[in-house]
Amino acid sequence: MLVATPIGNLGDISPRAVEELERADLVCCEDTRRTGRLLAHLAVGSRMLRTDDHTENRVASEVISLLESGKRVVLVSDAGTPGVSDPGQRLVGLVLAAGHLVTVVPGPSAVLAALVASGLPTSRFVFEGFLDRKGNGRREQLADIAVQPRTTVVYESPNRTAATLRDLAEVCGRERPAAVARELTKLHEEFVRGTLSELASWAHAGVRGEVVIVIGGAPPRAAATDTEIVEALRAEMASGVSRRDAVAEVAATLGAARRRVYELALGVDDSSSSA
Ligand code: SAM
Repeated sequence: MLVATPIGNLGDISPRAVEELERADLVCCEDTRRTGRLLAHLAVGSRMLRTDDHTENRVASEVISLLESGKRVVLVSDAGTPGVSDPGQRLVGLVLAAGHLVTVVPGPSAVLAALVASGLPTSRFVFEGFLDRKGNGRREQLADIAVQPRTTVVYESPNRTAATLRDLAEVCGRERPAAVARELTKLHEEFVRGTLSELASWAHAGVRGEVVIVIGGAPPRAAATDTEIVEALRAEMASGVSRRDAVAEVAATLGAARRRVYELALGVDDSSSSA
């Protein structure tokens, strides 16, 4: 059973989470000292076993043999919901593959807490977890966020928050609405809402504590005009692309109906195209 634990405020532990921790024959956790403090606070004496990215496979065999003998096993992470930017997914997969039931006591998770308080649209959203620190991976993730029409939620470490907000402002545009949720549920909880450029300036002097960045979706793209479509077709065909491929490419990049692009393509001189 996966059990969510507080992301700061111990008052957020649910009665069902406490009950499951009490009944557990084994509590798998990322850090026995950290979870030990939570269990001590709850006066729960269940046995703990460290479960992280390196030990997940080994722990899975012990968990599966306990489940086979009818014992109860709980998985928690350091904070929030296990499996959300935390270990858990692999253990869940192995336990399911061994034919056992996996269930959950839902509860705190920084992604939802930040999203719902951000003031940005919540009906459809994308969770990116932590962005890569550098390289092509990061560039691609930033480019995806820039064109993503849904609200995007990103986890970030405090010392990288300013750089990430700067990068986001660069790719998404300075005026894109966003929010930073800092120290959720804790004494110094703070929500900063504004444009990406305002948030980057706010973060410039340094940010402390735990941080979630929420970015508003890309504004809907204006419909392409006939002139834009014809120009794009000319450019494609001048580079040697066949009329048919140019139609497909232009329809996809400009988000225009293929039939309309095809009709406009019939009027474009194809002397330099390959077909
Ligand atoms: N499993 C956790 C969850 O369900 O939210 C997330 C674990 S991930 C390793 C830790 C990241 O979550 C932090 O770097 C931060 O981005 C975010 N986070 C966790 N607790 C937070 C809090 N109290 N306030 C703001 N962000 C938090």
